[in-house]
Amino acid sequence: MSEIRYDSLHDTHVLIAPERLHRPDMIPIQMINQEESVCPFCEGNELMTPKEIYAIRILDSLANGVGWKTRVVPNLYKAVAIEAPHSYHHGNFGYWDGFGAHEVIIDTSMHKTSMMQWDQQERCDWLKTLRQRVGDLRRDQRISYLSLFKNEGFDAGSTMAHCHTQLIGLPLIPKEIHLMNRYAVDYYKEHHHALIESIISYEEESLVRMVETHGAFSAFCPYASSYPFEVMISSKYHVGQIDTLNESDLDDLATLLGSVLLRLKSELNSFSFNLSISTPPLGEDISLYEAHRLRIRIMPRLYRLGGFEMSSHMMINPVLPELAAKLLRGEEYD
Ligand SMILES: [Zn+2]
Repeated sequence: MSEIRYDSLHDTHVLIAPERLHRPDMIPIQMINQEESVCPFCEGNELMTPKEIYAIRILDSLANGVGWKTRVVPNLYKAVAIEAPHSYHHGNFGYWDGFGAHEVIIDTSMHKTSMMQWDQQERCDWLKTLRQRVGDLRRDQRISYLSLFKNEGFDAGSTMAHCHTQLIGLPLIPKEIHLMNRYAVDYYKEHHHALIESIISYEEESLVRMVETHGAFSAFCPYASSYPFEVMISSKYHVGQIDTLNESDLDDLATLLGSVLLRLKSELNSFSFNLSISTPPLGEDISLYEAHRLRIRIMPRLYRLGGFEMSSHMMINPVLPELAAKLLRGEEYD
């Protein structure tokens, strides 16, 4: 069983998860002949995965059979388990028993290997699935934080070629997230609006880092982007969180996401990336909920991390965000 160990020297936590050792990605994905091996995420191979937790299904189709658009299953190589005791052991060598949720969202029933291949309906179904899962898991009072992310491509640490998303629910709030939340609340209390509202207002006026806007959402290259060609999609106004998005905003978000991915593809061709979707702050803190905005962060992995990044927790980005935005808008490099 895994443990979430407290690192008292760095005041942070580490997930020690021996089950992950058996993942297929311990063999580099490039060495696996994807054409010859049977893909457990493809429609027709439902019995190769654990039983589904949720699926968007075609009318009258049966659970764990064919006839679905998205499908959610427990991660076979889970980092944390919902059956583990929800208990913390105190001390300098403190740890949580490996309690938590670890789900895999199979994004499409067809064997698509890139988000760039999705159509608008697939993007909408994907967002609706995330909406349902986050809404469901946030009702579990034992979970304090949800991490929602995708890895696409070898350099992003992808484990399976077939498009999928992961959702990990933890009994604690990671230190970096906690600090970010606290800063967001302090800003909100002082200025009576969310920090991201000020940022997007500035970006929309100055235009230098803007990529595109659609509906309530804006896509821009963040001023202090950690990754080259990093793009953030966020709502300036409070349109709700991923679990409370209405149909019209969900459709707008899917449209903008599709357009941003196409822009990235036309600039970078085939590339690995990590994508994270912000999840609602859990618990009762209303100011934090108000200060928080739905964000999708796309982080292209064009360079490998080195010793400086690992030791200082500070990133080196060789591409000016202003230049990345200009190129993504389709303007010439001068
Ligand atoms: Zn597949």
